[in-house]
Amino acid sequence: MTKTALFIVDVQGDFLPPDGSLMVPAGLLVKPAIISLLTDPKYKWDYVVASQDYHPPGHISFASSHPGHRVYSDIELKDGRGILYEQKLWPDHCVQGTKGCEIAPDLAAKIAERGDTAKLVRKGWHKDVEAYSAFDGYLTDFSNPADPPSEIDPQPARKIVQWLRDQGVTKVVVAGLAAELCVAHTALSAVASRFQTAILQPATRAIEERDAEEQWDKLCAVGARIIGRANRPRTLRWEDELDQWLAAEKAGAWPEWKNKNNGTA
Ligand SMILES: [Zn+2]
Repeated sequence: MTKTALFIVDVQGDFLPPDGSLMVPAGLLVKPAIISLLTDPKYKWDYVVASQDYHPPGHISFASSHPGHRVYSDIELKDGRGILYEQKLWPDHCVQGTKGCEIAPDLAAKIAERGDTAKLVRKGWHKDVEAYSAFDGYLTDFSNPADPPSEIDPQPARKIVQWLRDQGVTKVVVAGLAAELCVAHTALSAVASRFQTAILQPATRAIEERDAEEQWDKLCAVGARIIGRANRPRTLRWEDELDQWLAAEKAGAWPEWKNKNNGTA
């Protein structure tokens, strides 16, 4: 049977008005949509995976860690795995143990009610590794989170993908903040690992709407579905579009790995 995981990306103090250091201006608007996803009994999420940006002080992505470089400028860096990459420098945000790092309390309470089926991914936990996708962190229990690992995992997504496959998850729905960054990267990871993937646009908001539109186009091109896409002619309410997508088995579109494990998975 198809199992479905709802990913709730980074709905944390520092990404939310009124005083988040890296706030998504309309970020609070994701909360009612996500709460209805969590409380309406018609949605049968087998797993809920919340992600949390979880940085130590002095994180590689903070402008304050690179004297002479301005916030929002781009800089070429080598990370803790030895990978060269371009980093956009952010204000300090989501520092472990601060209020800005906490998942919005009203959402956190609803997620925690799910007991063992509620999971947490903490990402960007190592001082010298940046992470946008909720597949690029360590997976732990939502209500009883483990401390970060002692060493960098060069390919953290492998573990999370394997865990989802072991549970029989084939569909992933992504919501949260910020649309064009961590939400889009999470969806791209899910598609890359051959999960049927949908982004629920009414449950996400962007810092820059135009950048989100670009990411939605990219995601559509690789087979993801943008549900409730704004500025598009639409005949269905997003709730109905989501119901249809969740109900569709998409015969012939089963992930390859599932066929290989037939009978066991
Ligand atoms: Zn971050």
